Amino acid sequence: MITHDTSKPNVILSVLHNNCPRCRRGRLFKYSNPYKLNGMLKMNEKCEVCGQTTDMEPGFYYGTSYVSYGLAIAVTVATLVAWWVLIGFSLQDNRFFWWMGTNAFILIALQPLLMRWSRTIWLSFFIWYSPKWNEGDVVVPERTNDSLKNAW
Ligand SMILES: [Zn+2]
Repeated sequence: MITHDTSKPNVILSVLHNNCPRCRRGRLFKYSNPYKLNGMLKMNEKCEVCGQTTDMEPGFYYGTSYVSYGLAIAVTVATLVAWWVLIGFSLQDNRFFWWMGTNAFILIALQPLLMRWSRTIWLSFFIWYSPKWNEGDVVVPERTNDSLKNAW
């Protein structure tokens, strides 16, 4: 179906909502709740709006570890600054270690969100927004192997 919606959704919002990077409209993940742990990383095979394939090649999403690392560092810096401003650090007590424990807890609690955002950002490096998303110019994967889909 050809639609005539030519507005360009915001890139930050589309990543936060885990939308397809090509049309910025379709959902990448099967379940909207990231804390449904047994289906957290189940992705739609194709974008339900523009038809873009989400599994580009065997092992494609291994690269998300780089993005995930960057996001974890960003969260850690944010909690460090927040702790510094709100609570402060001292050599006379254990506040630094309390921050480390709190930061570890926050990172674990945010894992489902961070893992999904890592995949969305990683896919966005390779699939760019297309203003002609509704005309069927999907990016065809270089190589696919059905038996290796979701094999990690
Ligand atoms: Zn799409």
